[in-house]
Amino acid sequence: MYHAARRIRFGRLLFFGGAVMQGNIHSVESFGTVDGPGVRFVIFFQGCPMRCRYCHNPDTWQTDAGHPETADSLLEAYRRNAAFYRSGGITCTGGEPMLQMPFLTELFTKAKAEGIHTCLDTSGICFQPEHSEAARSLLAVTDLVMLDIKHIREDAHRALTGHSNRNILQFAAFIAECGVPLWIRHVLVPGLTDAEADLEALGEFIGGLHTLQGLDVLPYHDMGKQKYAALGIPYPLPDIPPASAEQAAAAKAVILRGIKQRLRKSYGNLS
Ligand code: SF4
Repeated sequence: MYHAARRIRFGRLLFFGGAVMQGNIHSVESFGTVDGPGVRFVIFFQGCPMRCRYCHNPDTWQTDAGHPETADSLLEAYRRNAAFYRSGGITCTGGEPMLQMPFLTELFTKAKAEGIHTCLDTSGICFQPEHSEAARSLLAVTDLVMLDIKHIREDAHRALTGHSNRNILQFAAFIAECGVPLWIRHVLVPGLTDAEADLEALGEFIGGLHTLQGLDVLPYHDMGKQKYAALGIPYPLPDIPPASAEQAAAAKAVILRGIKQRLRKSYGNLS
């Protein structure tokens, strides 16, 4: 049973000689209001190579969990409530949706053919600058990217996520180069991602991305604790308190200051 499911999950089903691509999906949310503009059909992809210490979805990490779905089955589920999504659309998040790039590209291609707004919520970790053609094809059918920048400093990023931020920052530049609207997301974790100099540096970096349209600073919360307990994984941040909305707003103001500094350097004085 396990092996059969696994084969289906990562392969293609054969129907009378044709091939149907399948994605490995954790879950869907029919009426998402915080993952892009408007009311959205949110698809959580299974599998993530990152290990962010503040992650509240550790149940999306493993690639051998989840269940198979085709692009058509997901679009069929979208169509059932299509009237609610008029100002919204589809958001793919995770886990890490770019881990399943061919399936994600097929899903967005079919969605765009139906006039559906497509939004990609990603950490950018799967981007490989030296093999960027697949990402270019994906971005050609993506209306909005919400890119999480976990930390602007390489050493701190490695400590927080287990990975370099090099390709992620290059992906940010690539998204702008491809002309795709971009929202940046940053999780504010007290003592880990809230240093003023880092926030300002983050602002200076994203101020150089000409398709930047939005900035979300999300306060860290520990609501994922029970999931860690259920999975038997020690909670990575037992001593860090949740951040408040006020702390997130103050951090956002510092990032905005960094953006202005960058714009001032690029374009001279701004009133
Ligand atoms: S990228 Fe997202 S899903 Fe993956 S570990 Fe980080 S917070 Fe969790």
